[in-house]
Amino acid sequence: MTDYDVIVIGAGNAGLSAAATMQRGGRRTLLLERHNVPGGAAHSFVRGRYEFEVSLHQLAGMHGEGPLRAVFDMLDVTRRLEFVIDDDLYRTVVPGVLDVTLPADWQGVIDTLDAHYPGNRAQLTRFMELVRETGVWQLVARSSLHKMQEMTEWLTGLSDVRRYGLKSFQEVLDDFFTDERLKLVLSSYWSYNGRMPSQCPFMDLARLITLYIEFKPYQVVGGSMSMSSAMLDSFLEAGGEVKFNANVTRIITRGGAACGVRLEDGTEVSSRMVISNAPSITTYTKMLEDGVVPDRVLRDLRGRTIGPSATVTYLGLDAPAAELGFLSSTNFIHADLDERATDRSSRTLEPARFLVATCYDVRPTGYAPPGTSQVALASLHYAAPWEAVAPEDYAAAKFAFAQTQLELLKAVAPGVRDVIEEAEVATPITFKRYLSQPGGTIYGFEQDASDSWLFRDEDLKPNVPGLVCISNWTGAGGYNSMIVMAARVCQRILSM
Ligand SMILES: Cc1cc2nc3c(=O)[nH]c(=O)nc-3n(C[C@H](O)[C@H](O)[C@H](O)COP(=O)(O)OP(=O)(O)OC[C@H]3O[C@@H](n4cnc5c(N)ncnc54)[C@H](O)[C@@H]3O)c2cc1C
Repeated sequence: MTDYDVIVIGAGNAGLSAAATMQRGGRRTLLLERHNVPGGAAHSFVRGRYEFEVSLHQLAGMHGEGPLRAVFDMLDVTRRLEFVIDDDLYRTVVPGVLDVTLPADWQGVIDTLDAHYPGNRAQLTRFMELVRETGVWQLVARSSLHKMQEMTEWLTGLSDVRRYGLKSFQEVLDDFFTDERLKLVLSSYWSYNGRMPSQCPFMDLARLITLYIEFKPYQVVGGSMSMSSAMLDSFLEAGGEVKFNANVTRIITRGGAACGVRLEDGTEVSSRMVISNAPSITTYTKMLEDGVVPDRVLRDLRGRTIGPSATVTYLGLDAPAAELGFLSSTNFIHADLDERATDRSSRTLEPARFLVATCYDVRPTGYAPPGTSQVALASLHYAAPWEAVAPEDYAAAKFAFAQTQLELLKAVAPGVRDVIEEAEVATPITFKRYLSQPGGTIYGFEQDASDSWLFRDEDLKPNVPGLVCISNWTGAGGYNSMIVMAARVCQRILSM
């Protein structure tokens, strides 16, 4: 008799979703988290009178029949939370070149872009239809992997999806449009994938755009910390057990199959199955004894690249959002149209050339005190340039970079500097330290076409018997993806 049926390592989005699904499915589940709070990246921190959202900019998949809502309903989480729908999809600004706000509506996107860039209506209509077909097919196919034949037959009828699916987003844009401004607006969500449009698979961005338009961009009252607490409550109410400050150092195996874990303090706990929400690269290379992980898995890991992290400046502003110029919650601000220069800048500490400026109080989410607003300025960065900064120069480097983000922010909110009450800057080093993510990465491995869910779906064929890895590193990252994927994988296990 084992201590538990299932041990889940890590209480991030995926770990919480997996633990709640297994426990509610009747499996005695122990959740072990090395931190003293749940959530991983879905978390908050306090400075002065502000509680800052660490990572959630826009929640996808919550509206109508959205995949995230379906999981939250199943886990009895929806009723514990309050949501606010963003009015806009996003606003994209290049100072002096363009300033376009898109609605979260298929036809609205076509109408808005045609108004800004006349003469493109027919192509816009075709393009958005392609995005929608590609996105919807993937969403349905991913939830119906057991019906692969039906999904393949459906795909056979979608000739454009087959033609464009594995091209880069930029290649497809180039096939449809000539105006670089229009292309930049349409590709704004690239930063939610971590790859520039020229490297980002069309399929991935089409899925993202579909999730946000079809199921609307949401904010959560109380931020992602409320979501993490609600998922934890769902797990505990069903009888699950959680231990915080519980750093798992080893996955114990017997006959090559996972059968428990060892904690940093030496405690050993046995189980019939282990689910790891720790990065798969850490799970396979540091937590298992030699010889257990197949060579092909280790070779594959060695051939992959760690994706970007971010430098995020969190601001508590002593003025309401509208007074400062924030008309949309999500603002993508570019220095110019030069994508290559922006890509290069994510590997250096040169002045910010791109940022996602998220204001959480355009429609209040209950985070900032009345009359104030909370803003996060995120620029994608790899860890290397930050790791090269000497410790004694680190604080100065952080705030110097933040100054350049503020400079870019002027295009949307020129008066922000005068009302800053609190400011904190997190770099890839911060995310590496607090989230235990190699490279501080936001989405795990670089999201290349070869990483597509079409080619990798570990849960269907575990690499180590009794061990399932579910995290950013085993599929497309993000809140919706992680929570939904973990619940689906666990439902499949429960049904076996
Ligand atoms: C700055 C930032 C902005 C983002 N913006 C968005 C956004 O707007 N929209 C969106 O959808 N996504 C966004 N993301 C991405 C999203 O947050 C992640 O994809 C998602 O939260 C990852 O979930 P996870 O469960 O895989 O990993 P994590 O959240 O990293 O959770 C892993 C958990 O495992 C624990 N753990 C690790 N090792 C051990 C161990 N050995 N023992 C015990 N516990 C362990 C960690 O402490 C952590 O709690 C953002 C991320 C960041 C950092």
